[in-house]
Amino acid sequence: MSTSTATAVVYEGPRVLTMKEIPLPTIGPQDTLLEVVLCGVDGSELHMYNGNYDWLNDKAPVTFGDEIIGRVVDIGVAAKERHGLVIGDLVTVEARWPCAAGCENCDRGQYFLCMHNTTFRGYGTISLAEPPHLWGGYATHVFVPEGALLYKVPQELPLRTALFACSVLANGLRWSEVNGAGPGKTTVVIGPGPQGLACTIAATRMGSTVVVVGLEHDGERLALAKTLGAAHTYAIPEGEEPVETARKIRALVGRVDGVIEGAGYTPARDLAFEVISPLGIVTLVAAPTPPVQEINWRNVREVTINSPLSHPHTIARSFDFAVQLLEEGMDVGSLVTHEYSLEDAEKAIAVASYKTDEHPIKVVLNPAL
Ligand SMILES: [Zn+2]
Repeated sequence: MSTSTATAVVYEGPRVLTMKEIPLPTIGPQDTLLEVVLCGVDGSELHMYNGNYDWLNDKAPVTFGDEIIGRVVDIGVAAKERHGLVIGDLVTVEARWPCAAGCENCDRGQYFLCMHNTTFRGYGTISLAEPPHLWGGYATHVFVPEGALLYKVPQELPLRTALFACSVLANGLRWSEVNGAGPGKTTVVIGPGPQGLACTIAATRMGSTVVVVGLEHDGERLALAKTLGAAHTYAIPEGEEPVETARKIRALVGRVDGVIEGAGYTPARDLAFEVISPLGIVTLVAAPTPPVQEINWRNVREVTINSPLSHPHTIARSFDFAVQLLEEGMDVGSLVTHEYSLEDAEKAIAVASYKTDEHPIKVVLNPAL
C-alpha cells in the first residue's frame, strides 16, 4: 500500500468480497481521517455477507465494519477544536451520528433512530459510491465527517480491550440497563456469544444473579461465562423443548426478572417468553433468523418487551467500565481471540460464523497484519 491510497475490503454482493485501492481524501476543516488499528467482525456482518439483507444488497458495493479503533492521521482545524484531538490520538468512531437537520429522535438523543436516516446509514453500511468512499472499518482508513462522534481511547486500555469496549461492552451495558439488571434481580442471558458475554459482565456488575444459556456445543463459552461472573450456566440438550428448558431454569433460580435474548433463532425467542416471569422484561437484541415466529402470548403476562438498538451515549462509560474492570483484574480484551488481516476478511467471517474448527469469542481484523 502506498501512503496516498487506502485499501478496503469491498462487499460486492452475497458472499463476494474484493480488495480495492482508494485514494486518500483531502481533509476539510471539519473532517478527520483515521488509520484503522482494529475492526471488529460482528454478528450483523455475518448476515450481511450472506446477502440476507435486501436493504444492504441494494447499497452494494459497501465496505463493512462499524466497530472501529483507529489512529488520527489527518484532522482539520475545526475538527481538532471540536473533538479535542491531535494527530496520533487513538480513538473510536460511533457507527451512527445525529443529523444536523433537527429531527425529533436526534433531539431526544436517539441518533440510532434518526428520522432523516431511514436506510441505516452509518459505518459499514454506506455505499462505496459515496465520496470519499472510506465508510467502513474493513479497511486501512476511514473518513470521519463533520457531526460524527469520536471518543478518545483511555491510555490505560490495551488495543484489544479498547476494541471490545468500543461496541460490544457498550451494548452489554446498555442492554443490561434496559433489561432492568440490578441487585436482587435474576437475569437470564440467552446466547453466550461476545454480546451475551458482555451482557453477563455488565449485568453481574450491576448486581444481578446471571444465568447464561447456550447449546451443548457452547461448553467453552459457558465455562468462560462463569469466570466472567455468571452464577449459573445451562447447556440445552439437543431436542429439548423451550418449555422444558424454562422449567429447569426456574427450578434453578426461581423468579426470572429479565431475559436478554442474544441468539436470534426461533427456539431462543420461544425460550425467552417461556422463562420470563410476570412483570419481567424481555430484551430482544439479536437479528432474528428466521424473521417471523409465533409467540405463545399466554405466557406473556405483564411482561415488558424492548428492542434496544446498539448504544447511544454509552461509549465513554464503557471505556471507563473497561478501565475499572482492568483494575479489578479482568481484561475484556482477552475475549478477542482471533485477529486476521484484511486479505483474510472472508476467513474471519467464516470463523466468527462458527463455520470452521476454531472456537472464537470475538474476531477482529487488523489491517497491519
Ligand atoms: Zn436526526
